[in-house]
Amino acid sequence: LSIAANDFVFRFTIHDSRFTIHLFWFFIGLIGGLAAGWLLAVSLPRQKSQNESLQIAADVQKKQIVSERLLLTSVTANLREGVVVVNENMLVTSANLAAQYIFSHVQPPLEGKRLTDLTRNLSVHNAFVAALDAAKFSEIKVETRGDAEKRIFDLRVAPLRFQSEAEIRAAIGVFYDITRLEQLERVRQEFLSNVSHELRTPLTAILAFVETLEDGAISDEANNLRFLGVIRKNAERMRRLINDILELSAIEAGKIIVKKTRVKLAPLVAEIVESLSAKAQANQVVIKNQVEPNVEVFADADRLAQMLTNLIDNAVKFNRPNGTITICAAAENNRFLISVADTGEGIAHEDTERIFQRFYRVDRARAAANETVGGTGLGLAIVKHLARLQGGEVSVVSTLGKGSTFTIELPK
Ligand code: ADP
Repeated sequence: LSIAANDFVFRFTIHDSRFTIHLFWFFIGLIGGLAAGWLLAVSLPRQKSQNESLQIAADVQKKQIVSERLLLTSVTANLREGVVVVNENMLVTSANLAAQYIFSHVQPPLEGKRLTDLTRNLSVHNAFVAALDAAKFSEIKVETRGDAEKRIFDLRVAPLRFQSEAEIRAAIGVFYDITRLEQLERVRQEFLSNVSHELRTPLTAILAFVETLEDGAISDEANNLRFLGVIRKNAERMRRLINDILELSAIEAGKIIVKKTRVKLAPLVAEIVESLSAKAQANQVVIKNQVEPNVEVFADADRLAQMLTNLIDNAVKFNRPNGTITICAAAENNRFLISVADTGEGIAHEDTERIFQRFYRVDRARAAANETVGGTGLGLAIVKHLARLQGGEVSVVSTLGKGSTFTIELPK
């Protein structure tokens, strides 16, 4: 433009410099306007989209926080361990369902309650204080006595510190229920001490008689065979005991496989009665097999024989002279009942549940003193386990002084 219209521009410049100035400002204004318009056109939508994306990011973050919280709540809600979070004022800020169950005496929700409202246990309190004040981890054993039963917990308390707008101090406590573990441990210890005790008694007798024989009684012809007899009886007792323990532990370990078939009951009972007839005669007890000849049960024949032998053997042992034992069978709904009734001393009501426990004997002293009566205390525990293994149960009804009836219940 400037080359082509050189003269024209020149002329204007010469004759009206003010107009040139105006023109200059006009162009400046035009360019400025155009630039501002362009800038506005470019920057406004960007700013708008920037705001929008900030908003979206905030929404996403909010949603993420909510879903994380939900996830955390549902994770802790489904935990079997009780989880309690306490803030620096010793107030509960979060607690899961299991915690609510542990502190069931406290009106829900636990949130907002003081830790002392949940428990007065000083060591729990101290563990949380140590976590809050000294950032210390602790692990303690806690016992709670709820409405129903005593429960034992392994409590782990850890400090929680994180930076939000200000530093937040809190402590998390996880209550791990070890009641069952403790029970099992107690049962194991009891079992060990019972086994040692049961083995020690016959072993002491054996050693005592061996020493007596060694000290010269071996030449005492009037007594030496009797002493040997006592040694043999005690050794047999030890063998019975060890066999029963092994049997019981095999059942409990699931090593016994039951093979159920149709079993003719009457001949099975007859065989057992036959095998115990010498013992029954010695105890002046009559055994009556009242099972109908055509009765069949669906069971593992060997295991059923073992159960009935234990029950009939007990009925002989704990009977009285001229007593009787009656074995009957009956079908009832979808169950099959086999009962062994005796006319013995009977069992006190408070002992009827406990006799199925391992090593429990009603009259320990009497049983130990009487070598023929003295069993292992494991017979009924074996019967119970074998019955359950076949989907059944065993129970007893007894009247002191009149006798007892043990019933094996099997699915039809
Ligand atoms: P064991 O017979 O070896 O002592 P069991 O487990 O078979 O062990 O029985 C546990 C206890 O239950 C016995 O010591 C006895 O006190 C009691 N008991 C079992 N059967 C009878 C019964 N028929 N009559 C009375 N008491 C019984």
